Amino acid sequence: MTRRITILGSTGSIGVSTLSLFEESGAEIEIIALTAGRNVEKLAEQALRWRPRLAVIQDESHLPALRERLQGSGIETAGGTAAVTAAAQMDAEWVMSAIVGAAGLAPTLAAARRGAVVALANKESLVCCGPSLLQIAREAGGVVIPVDSEHSAIFQVLQQPCLDKVSRLILTASGGPFRTWDQAAMRAASREQAVAHPNWSMGAKISIDSATMMNKGLEMIEASYLFAMEENQIDVLVHPQSIIHSMVEYADGSTLAQLGPPDMRAPIACAYAWPDRLAWPAPRLDLAAIGQLTFEDPDLERFPAIDIARQALRAGGRAPAAMNAANEVAVGAFLDRRIGFLDIADAVRGSLDRLNGGWDLKGEPGGDELEAAMMIDASARRVAAEVVDRLAAGRNGQG
Ligand code: NAD
Ligand code: MG
Repeated sequence: MTRRITILGSTGSIGVSTLSLFEESGAEIEIIALTAGRNVEKLAEQALRWRPRLAVIQDESHLPALRERLQGSGIETAGGTAAVTAAAQMDAEWVMSAIVGAAGLAPTLAAARRGAVVALANKESLVCCGPSLLQIAREAGGVVIPVDSEHSAIFQVLQQPCLDKVSRLILTASGGPFRTWDQAAMRAASREQAVAHPNWSMGAKISIDSATMMNKGLEMIEASYLFAMEENQIDVLVHPQSIIHSMVEYADGSTLAQLGPPDMRAPIACAYAWPDRLAWPAPRLDLAAIGQLTFEDPDLERFPAIDIARQALRAGGRAPAAMNAANEVAVGAFLDRRIGFLDIADAVRGSLDRLNGGWDLKGEPGGDELEAAMMIDASARRVAAEVVDRLAAGRNGQG
């Protein structure tokens, strides 16, 4: 049976992997909508190949270029932030949420609200609004299936009848490009060095998050919401080969792990076919060729982001959303070469310290969740922009 599909963020790393999986598996699909931020060339190319009903470019200044490229194709076009959310509201049964950052929250909520299967790569939307997003999906009769490789692993080895016998989730982490660097070298790290991830090829923002290990911090929060675990039930284990994608330890001391080559098409295939399995020519695991798997504890001094995220998760309420917004601003400033690599975590902590009630922002029960999350997102961004300006000025010797 043909399945109706929408991909939010189709031109990014996850979006491209999703279409590659559809190509390789020959899955019977009809694409309803493809959306992108600014990459009009790639969006037009994908649209001409996959023939969606609608192609949306969030940055409206590129809409004329999109129209021109798709002229005569019969594919509808639209531009702007509201059009991305409108695309998520169309009648696709399966929606890949692969926009980067809190910008993915509104369209992801829109898809969840109408009961679609939401394949969730956009971890920031869970961090900003996790409990509400999951509740909205549940109430609409839909489901959120994690695509983040760690959460896909846990999702696959979590035995539903004995959730109360889970003692620990063990999130594995590659350790990123700076796993073995000393602090002085990290301080001087360039944008190019930070985005060069050893095992995964990903978008710029998540690559920087992997280098600071804030990615693991966001993933702890994501795991806590998805699997209803407390902060102290979630551990991080550095595993440089990225073969074990995560593990669940049970009360009887048994630990279940999910393994595979580092290829995001594997968790995407899982989210596509769940609870079935998709047959496709997947890269296979050759453990003899790999030889050994190694493990170590994360260095919390060189990677303070892990503890910042733990603190936000323990604080609860709106603290994770504020932390996420501050991190997006700080990562943006590093990518723009305005602040140094170690300034990123300092800026996030500094922003939460300065934000009025930053660590103690309680959620208002009821009300519009999206609006509330966007309000704290906006105030945290304002404070973070000031903190970043100060760090940038200090770096230029003006501070
Ligand atoms: P990316 O930067 O490669 O792609 C992001 C996509 O979102 C692009 O299509 C871009 O055009 C679009 N976009 C950007 N800003 C937008 C905006 N304001 N409005 C609408 N669309 C916008 O990122 P990615 O690596 O594909 O990651 C996407 C999400 O998946 C992130 O949340 C990331 O944390 C998560 N994720 C990625 C990986 C990976 O391997 N890449 C793994 C796990 C989780
Ligand atoms: Mg991950």
